[in-house]
Amino acid sequence: MSLFSQLRFHTTVNDLHMLPFEGVEVAFAGRSNAGKSSAINTLANHKRLAFVSKTPGRTQHINYFDFGEGRYLVDLPGYGYAEVPEAIRAHWEALLGQYLATRPNLIGLVLMMDSRHPLKPLDVRMLDWFIPTGRPVHVLLTKSDKLTRQEQAKTLAAVRDKLQAWPQCSVQLFSSLKKTGIDEAEAVVGGWFASLQENVDEPGT
Ligand code: GDP
Repeated sequence: MSLFSQLRFHTTVNDLHMLPFEGVEVAFAGRSNAGKSSAINTLANHKRLAFVSKTPGRTQHINYFDFGEGRYLVDLPGYGYAEVPEAIRAHWEALLGQYLATRPNLIGLVLMMDSRHPLKPLDVRMLDWFIPTGRPVHVLLTKSDKLTRQEQAKTLAAVRDKLQAWPQCSVQLFSSLKKTGIDEAEAVVGGWFASLQENVDEPGT
């Protein structure tokens, strides 16, 4: 059974102080409307596991999904939605930064970016917050069906080039509409959990 097909809704938290203590987690983050909910549903092969919003930016809570065996997927609130008042946006972005920089349970970040507009300033800010932790980042260039093959290759190469300063960053194309990129994303996230297990199994580490 694939990792993501085991995913079940676990809980919703509205405050960083309410995060669970136990388990290890991978976070899914992205600008509002980047296609994060669709990507979670596609990876899980589930139509409505994560709510696909028609009104982006409305939901500013953190959803926990359970892979089993103490492993979680954390669906972070989308950032950068223009119609949310500036003070509220700034507050949520600061909370996201605090979470990414300090959360001990967090083993990796999957960052969703619309393949037509990758690496916007807020995306870079997320990377700046998380990269100092030394943990891996995997970028999903979403909605890749909206690009021609040539544009896909060009975008992938350009983003890869910009991220090459950080060896723990990887990047791929993804389309929920065409269901492409699922195996690659699953292999990366599965690899993060597996390497954790190897460290636990290895005596003296
Ligand atoms: P979120 O705000 O990041 O959770 O984004 P959603 O998953 O709610 O998607 C935002 C919009 O993009 C919705 O209208 C989706 O139908 C659309 N969308 C998401 N993924 C894809 C995709 O792979 N291809 C296309 N063409 N549209 C997509």
